[in-house]
Amino acid sequence: MKLLMMGAREDERIFAEKWAKENKIDLEITNDFLSPDTLHLVEGKDGIALQQTMGLPKEMYQQLADLGIKQIATRSAGYDMYDLEAATEAGLIVTNVPEYSPNAIAEFAVTSALATVRQLNKIQANMAKQDFRWAKDMISREIRSMTVGIIGTGRIGRITAQILKGFGAEIIAYDLYQNDDAKEFLTYKDSVEEVVKEADLISIHMPATKDNYHLFNDDLFNLMKDGSFLVNTARGMIVDTAALLRALDSGKLAGAALDTYENEMPYVTKDFTDKEIEDEIFKELVNREDVIFTPHIAFYTDTAVENLVAGGLNAVYDVVTTDDSQNRVN
Ligand code: NAD
Repeated sequence: MKLLMMGAREDERIFAEKWAKENKIDLEITNDFLSPDTLHLVEGKDGIALQQTMGLPKEMYQQLADLGIKQIATRSAGYDMYDLEAATEAGLIVTNVPEYSPNAIAEFAVTSALATVRQLNKIQANMAKQDFRWAKDMISREIRSMTVGIIGTGRIGRITAQILKGFGAEIIAYDLYQNDDAKEFLTYKDSVEEVVKEADLISIHMPATKDNYHLFNDDLFNLMKDGSFLVNTARGMIVDTAALLRALDSGKLAGAALDTYENEMPYVTKDFTDKEIEDEIFKELVNREDVIFTPHIAFYTDTAVENLVAGGLNAVYDVVTTDDSQNRVN
């Protein structure tokens, strides 16, 4: 069996080579993404594992099928960059890696929560200026004295809740579907509104859907306690960023830690060191001391990368050998 891994980052290679050795598979690894220009690399291969940052032209799905390819395996949980309809029409099975390390994101959400509550940005900015004083506005609250609101109690939300419970916080939550096991360490409320009214710190852990676009808008921010904190490691479009900036200016929010931004695509994973950021809202996010912005990096641990690589390649193997996969999404 000959497989091809495309769009490989340097940090993925070591895990891909390990997988190939353990499974005795002939695996070609390239950092080229799949495109009309690189389609020829697929010739003679039995399966492909991709990591596209942009979509594929529609006709490429049939071209892949014509080359004898049966599947597309993405080494990510998200698969919105693939046209599932076109893939299905061409007879291609698309797979993802739905769970690779919820702890990675949960630990980052907690890191972000602590950093924003303890105002680490402000402290670090003063250190860079060699100002070592304890400014009055650096005084922080303690997590154990806070009520934490978890929005979305799936895999990541539940672990985040358990870790913060360990700090002594009271945990309240909202989810469309309540989880019985979670009731041991958190109390469910009947709506997002009820949670934000009572919480001192809110952490978002639900997927972006057409129903929750800009759920965190002026109305919701206005329901929050003065001086609350918001952590978003889920998806940027759940938050109306202009409204978030207004909430920070008005003091409704004392701080925000955002690993995602609704219009992050032109910037995230790119080097803008000597380039101008044209998006004024994004520019403000990365420059404000009361906002900690991180580049969609919550997942980025050794365990998560290894599981994404192995999960993607296992799915290729499954489809090539059995014509199906548990991780099929179309
Ligand atoms: P999950 O599917 O296990 O849990 C999501 C939960 O959200 C479910 O319990 C679901 O019922 C709930 N939910 C869905 N819509 C809701 C709504 N409108 N209101 C309230 N609850 C709702 O997913 P997960 O593995 O815990 O991941 C959560 C999110 O984290 C993902 O959807 C993704 O957006 C994000 N994520 C971010 C990173 C990163 O690097 N920053 C990495 C992976 C995942």
